[in-house]
Amino acid sequence: MSIPKEADVVIIGGGVIGCSVAYHLGKLGWKNIVLIERKKLTCGTTWHAAGLIAQLRATQNMTRLAKYSQELYWDLEKETGVFTGFKRNGSMTVALTEERLEELKRQADWEEHYLMLDNFEEAWEKSLKDPITLSEKEKELTEYLYSLWTWKGDKWTPENENFYELKVNGQICRRIWNSMGYAWLDEIHPIENIFTDGYVVTQRYICDTNSNNGRESLFGAPFYYQDTWWIYQDYKFSWDQVDCKNPCATSVQYFANRVPIDLDDEIYNVTLQDN
Ligand SMILES: Cc1cc2nc3c(=O)[nH]c(=O)nc-3n(C[C@H](O)[C@H](O)[C@H](O)COP(=O)(O)OP(=O)(O)OC[C@H]3O[C@@H](n4cnc5c(N)ncnc54)[C@H](O)[C@@H]3O)c2cc1C
Repeated sequence: MSIPKEADVVIIGGGVIGCSVAYHLGKLGWKNIVLIERKKLTCGTTWHAAGLIAQLRATQNMTRLAKYSQELYWDLEKETGVFTGFKRNGSMTVALTEERLEELKRQADWEEHYLMLDNFEEAWEKSLKDPITLSEKEKELTEYLYSLWTWKGDKWTPENENFYELKVNGQICRRIWNSMGYAWLDEIHPIENIFTDGYVVTQRYICDTNSNNGRESLFGAPFYYQDTWWIYQDYKFSWDQVDCKNPCATSVQYFANRVPIDLDDEIYNVTLQDN
């Protein structure tokens, strides 16, 4: 077989890495790829590999890579029609010393944490992400509302732009301690805009639960968008929805959606003065 005179990409070495690079470039739409192997495909170190793909790795990225490989090998037969021999048996790691046991426990701990975050991120990307941007006018009106609230300093505490009590849809909602305010929102909150590791560190309010509509928690502060006042409200989700393949801890347990506020509190009837 003659070697092509030209190529867009030349990969040297047909072990698992070279083959993988060729495969992924092909998936990305690259056409003119040449892979050069000096003997036979996979004849090198790859031939010796036992084929184990343990997911518990030393770093988060290695773990993600191993997780991705698992999925890829699992689906490869469906995609190509070629049986790869890949089986998912699970595995067990045995520690021979106390120190090694300690190390494994630590790994398992943070592994669970990261897998949980990945699962949440995936669910959030798929079902909740819907970024919006406020216009200058909407921002102005929102900020004006905040200034009115602050202005009522005897009723609401005078701390700038923080509301300790909100009346939303007839319910009194009281702010609770900030560190308990993590929520995954359906968009980056246009006002607070503090977005860390996929979830928003935000104000959280617990509302009167005597009402019939079951509203329990609100997140963030109200904001004006497309002729409506909005806030975030938690909603009950099932773990199936999160596609939680691995055990999920509950430290990030809130998903919150943007919901309109009924304007039954006169404070929302603010209008900007024309300049
Ligand atoms: C005994 C053993 C067990 C293992 N078990 C596992 C396991 O269970 N799980 C796991 O994840 N990993 C395992 N590994 C590690 C894994 O096999 C390697 O990390 C992996 O195969 C490396 O792939 P590679 O493509 O980088 O290298 P290679 O597979 O070595 O591929 C390099 C290729 O380049 C070719 N080449 C070199 N020079 C040239 C040249 N000048 N021109 C053209 N071609 C060239 C070689 O012929 C070779 O085919 C194991 C390794 C060993 C040795």
